[in-house]
Parts: sequence; C-alpha cells; structure tokens
Amino acid sequence: MNRITHYDTERNFPDKNATSHLSPYLHFGNISITQAFEASGLAEQHSNKSTLSFQRELGWREFSGHLLFHFTELPEKPFRTNFTAFPRREDPVALRAWQTGKTGFPLIDAGMRQLWPTGWIHNRVRMVAASFLVKHLLIPWQQGQAWFWDTLVDADLANNAAGWQWIAGCGADAAPYFRIFTPVLQGQKFDPHGTYVKRWAPELTKLPDRYLHTPWIAPTEVLQRAGITLGSNYPTPLIDLAEGRKRALTAFNQFNQR
Ligand code: FAD
Repeated sequence: MNRITHYDTERNFPDKNATSHLSPYLHFGNISITQAFEASGLAEQHSNKSTLSFQRELGWREFSGHLLFHFTELPEKPFRTNFTAFPRREDPVALRAWQTGKTGFPLIDAGMRQLWPTGWIHNRVRMVAASFLVKHLLIPWQQGQAWFWDTLVDADLANNAAGWQWIAGCGADAAPYFRIFTPVLQGQKFDPHGTYVKRWAPELTKLPDRYLHTPWIAPTEVLQRAGITLGSNYPTPLIDLAEGRKRALTAFNQFNQR
C-alpha cells in the first residue's frame, strides 16, 4: 500500500511511519519540489484528501522559502518586528535539559532524544517541543532554532526559521501566541499508548498507559513497580505546566498592552 494513502489521518501520530521523510532529500536537492508534487498526484486514486494534505505541506515549504527570500533576516529577527521587544529569559540549565531530553515531560524528552541519534523529529513533536521552549520556558526562539540547525539532517534555513517563528507567534501567518501546546494533552492524544515515548525513553516502558505522559502524578508504588525513581532514572518535571502557561500568558498580555 502506498504510504500517502493514510497521510491525512495518520501524519500527526509520531509512532506511525506515515510521513514521507523527504525533507533532507528536498533540502539537498536530491528530489525537486515539482517531482515530489507530481509523484504525490499519482496516488490520487487512493485518497484525494491525503494527496492534497501532502501537497499543502509542500506549499508550506515553498512559502518559507519565499519568506526567507524577501526577508533575509528571518533566522535572526521576528518577522513581526514588534516582537523584538517581547520579554524572554536566559536559562542555560533549562535549555540544556531541553536539548538533552531531560525535561521530565515524556513526549518532549522522546522527541529530543530521537533528534540526537537520528537527526530527525516528527513534525508534531517538533511543534510541541518548540512550543514548550518558547512559551512555557520563555527562552528565545533563536536558541531552539540554533539547536535544530546543528542537529537536524533536514536543517533548512527557511523551514527552520519559519517553523520557529510560527510557534513563537512572531512569524507570518503565525499561530496566535495564546495558543500553547500542552505536552501532556498532546502526548495523550497523539501517542495514547506511549509507543513513541517508550521507544525513545525506555525507562518509562513499564509505566501504565494512564501515567505515561504524567509520571510525576503516579503513586509511589506504581513508580516502584515500573522501576522508576523520579529525579534519579527519569527527571522530575522542569517546570509546573500551569505556572509556565500562566507566566507565558502574563508576558504576552503585558507585551500587548505596551
Ligand atoms: P512530510 O509530512 O512528508 O511533508 C513533506 C514535505 O513537506 C517535507 O519533507 C517538507 O519539505 C515539507 N513540509 C512539511 N511540513 C512542513 C512545515 N511545517 N513547514 C515547511 N515545510 C514543511 N522542515 C525542514 O525541512 N527543515 C527544518 O529545518 C525544519 N525545521 C522545523 C522547525 C520547527 C520548529 C517546526 C515546527 C517544523 C520544522 N520543519 C522543518 C517542518 C517539518 O517539521 C518537516 O519538514 C517535516 O517534519 C519533515 O518530515 P517529512 O519529510 O516526513 O514531512
């Protein structure tokens, strides 16, 4: 069966091999955008919706390229220039925890641990991990972008900058700043049985599904049975999610009222 058949319905699930993995090949020019576009059209008889969905993503790539062409400072400066004044924090300890997959939030940790040995992260997890860095932690998006630039095999000046700016709320057509991904809900929705998390954070393998994305609320005996000691073989959460969210929204409201 052609992988594109279920692209529309499965592309958001990181444990499924449902996306094309074409990004490095498109970046380095092994395959052209028109080849990819036309080849995806051949699968139309399987699922028109999936073809359109895939082609829409190719469109985002082209859009990012155009943005960079016309706004060459995209990797350094917010596209929405007023965001230059947005209050951000320097926090090298938290940044390092994020880079090394030790935030205590399983979906993010799995993603960042997938990145290091493979040079790739699933798009859904890129979005959740990036949002956590720039919103819950208020760390400058340029620092996350720099890590992706150093580690992704598909590192692409335009796509990377546009992706980070979209998440940070300062890009063209960006997600509104107040829309904040919650790693717990995203994990429960897109990796309900923790197949992805268990692959990249194997120390959580024996945790029952209901605590997989929230190990810190698991009762002590459940953690013991799963062989987990928080703060020892799996990190305690880097931040209280509700407080981080509140801090991000407060920063945004103050920024908006200037
Ligand atoms: P598929 O889902 O199969 O998509 C097909 C192609 O469409 C991709 O190969 C890519 O060229 C393009 N595409 C898909 N999603 C996007 C998108 N959101 N924006 C632009 N183009 C897209 N992509 C890169 O190629 N290089 C990067 O450096 C990069 N950095 C990113 C940083 C952040 C914070 C985010 C949120 C996204 C980033 N992306 C980047 C976009 C996207 O995550 C990857 O293109 C995608 O995950 C690659 O996997 P795939 O080839 O299986 O994608």
